[in-house]
Amino acid sequence: MIMDIINHVEKIKDEIIESLRKFVSINSVNPRAGGPGEKEVAEWLESYLNTLKFDEIKRYDAPDDAVEYGYRPNIVAMYNGTNPERTIWFITHMDKVPEGDLSLWDHDPFDPVVKDGKIFGRGSEDNGSSLIATLFGVKTMMDLNIRPKNNIGLVFVSDEETGSEYGIKYLLKQNIFSKDDWYYVPDSGNPEGSFIEIAEKSILWLKIETLGKQAHASTPNVARNAHRASIYFAKELDEFLHNKYNAIDNMFGRIPISTFEPTKKEHNVDNVNTIPGTDVLYFDCRVLPQYDLNEIILDVNKIKEKYEAKFGVKINIDIPQMEFAPEPTPKDHPMVLKLKESIEILRSIKTFVGGIGGGTCAAILRHEGLPAVVWGTMDHMAHQPNEYIKIEHLIEDTKVYAHLMSNL
Ligand SMILES: [Zn+2]
Repeated sequence: MIMDIINHVEKIKDEIIESLRKFVSINSVNPRAGGPGEKEVAEWLESYLNTLKFDEIKRYDAPDDAVEYGYRPNIVAMYNGTNPERTIWFITHMDKVPEGDLSLWDHDPFDPVVKDGKIFGRGSEDNGSSLIATLFGVKTMMDLNIRPKNNIGLVFVSDEETGSEYGIKYLLKQNIFSKDDWYYVPDSGNPEGSFIEIAEKSILWLKIETLGKQAHASTPNVARNAHRASIYFAKELDEFLHNKYNAIDNMFGRIPISTFEPTKKEHNVDNVNTIPGTDVLYFDCRVLPQYDLNEIILDVNKIKEKYEAKFGVKINIDIPQMEFAPEPTPKDHPMVLKLKESIEILRSIKTFVGGIGGGTCAAILRHEGLPAVVWGTMDHMAHQPNEYIKIEHLIEDTKVYAHLMSNL
């Protein structure tokens, strides 16, 4: 059977590539990042799914005023097993992040280009490659008349890139998932395909707004420089957090530590000769699960008071995002072992399990006590200009999914 699967995926290779190109060509940028949303890509997918042998295809539209058509589509397609004990879900997302600075792209991000064995375009890796690979994994089974023991459920969600409120979180309220089910979320991975993700870090975003008093730059005596207070505060905060929360957890592989990164800086004043009365900057913190985010926030507030007193400013701390790391999926869970087996048989490589900085739909599922595993073969091109997926990775992942699904 394994040779049948490999040969069949090779046979339909052009169709797989064409489908990913079609996915990339439809702009489905998340509306909360300024895009048109997932309606068009969902309609294309649904019409394609209807040509295949799925036992049931259902839409779950989450009402949302952010788009003029009023909803965010989610699609669930079932391929029933012969003697099911559970449903095994494969969850991928239809939304994309914006193209960003267009001048950094060599091609139109929504007009996919095939070159050097790669497909370029926004969404080609994140999450197009895995969406298409899981879809053609099922199609391969259908074409070969293979029925797995358990039900296979493909789920195409909206809104992964801005919090999943209208995607997986909406579906979790629709009574379609069960706690005995398994949840594969192919949305991250390494270039070798050897990394299986079972854990994610906690996420904490800090918005730091410093309020002082604006004045001409030549008269600092009548000003309270919000920018100076802000950078001194940020410097101590940066050093303090790195020093105190310095544990190493090798389960998190390449980045086995908590990270605290100053990122966005809001515009303050237009001209060089004005002392800013307001200054806003942000930290993105990815924290090892062993730490309590509330303790970090207490520390931030303590240091904040010191700088308020020192510079005579007011500092407001907002928390735009705070996600506690869920319990990891056990590394010997049968859904991990089955995936390992398929990868190792098809690739002749050794796999390893570990954690990442987060956050995919898997973290949301783990929060609900559901076992979720993330895997894929990719070059870490997500959210970057000239995003691409290697065709080889797309095709080899399709084989792994077809093998895994037929073995479930
Ligand atoms: Zn993604």
